[in-house]
Amino acid sequence: MTDKYALIGSPIYHSKSPMIHGEFARSCEQDITYTTIETSHEDFSRTIFRFRESGGRGMNVTAPFKVTAMDLATERCKRAELAGAANTLKFVDGNIVADNFDGVGLVRDIESNLGIKLSGRRVLILGAGGAARGAIQPCLERAPCELMIANRTIAKAVALATAASALGRVVGCSDSALAGERFDVIINATSASLRNEQPAVPACVFTPDSLAYDLVYGKGLTPFLAMARSLGVKHLADGCGMLVEQAAEAFLWWRGVRPDTRCLIKKLKTPLL
Ligand code: NDP
Repeated sequence: MTDKYALIGSPIYHSKSPMIHGEFARSCEQDITYTTIETSHEDFSRTIFRFRESGGRGMNVTAPFKVTAMDLATERCKRAELAGAANTLKFVDGNIVADNFDGVGLVRDIESNLGIKLSGRRVLILGAGGAARGAIQPCLERAPCELMIANRTIAKAVALATAASALGRVVGCSDSALAGERFDVIINATSASLRNEQPAVPACVFTPDSLAYDLVYGKGLTPFLAMARSLGVKHLADGCGMLVEQAAEAFLWWRGVRPDTRCLIKKLKTPLL
């Protein structure tokens, strides 16, 4: 029987996930269907249970339900717990197991696809929302010499750094505390680019050899990436590779086989113009 998977969120009409998982299934010869399900906060748990009862084997979860999905889960993987959010669910023997592959996908894109190792580097994450929270543990596992988290609302950055302090050298601060600091990797995990806005970040954080990585995808040269380019930064990337890599991790978790991602990333990447 064909195994059923789906993405749940709102809105999801724009999602590339059905196409990505369709390609993975074809290339890995897996007999699955992958659909999208739009729901509301009131109907979220009912929709999940209904999908599972109809033969669903797992789900991806996107905004605004990543935190709610954690509450619904009966088992939570460690990195999902640290993130306080789940982006993937698996239905196993009556249990709903939650994990979060956003950060793993980000790190894999940076290290395997862009060829930039995080070990021993100074890494800056801008933002302390769901995506930033998911990135902390996978980043610290790569042993950067320091990870700084800067956020407009400083308390969130400090709380996040405190929660992750056992995993490595991590500091939470305000945007203004970045004056005079430089980094090898600067990750924009704020949602500013979605509104074509520039997060407050001083020019000094960039060097020509830095990587400037914006988690948003399909938006071309965002104000953050444009700023980095104007300062002579050579390595620029958007979140397209992260999107495909987190999907590949979810596929591996569900199906036990890791799809090749390079062709798909090449196909989906839009030029940073
Ligand atoms: P959240 O809403 O959870 O968090 C938003 C964060 O951005 C907060 O830290 C907020 O600060 C900050 N912020 C918002 N606007 C501004 C601004 N104008 N200037 C400075 N900071 C700002 O969003 P997510 O964490 O879920 O998503 C963040 C980004 O990551 C989005 O662009 C999203 O599309 C992308 N993303 C990409 C993925 C991929 O696969 N490539 C996967 C998941 C997310 P404050 O706390 O002060 O409000």
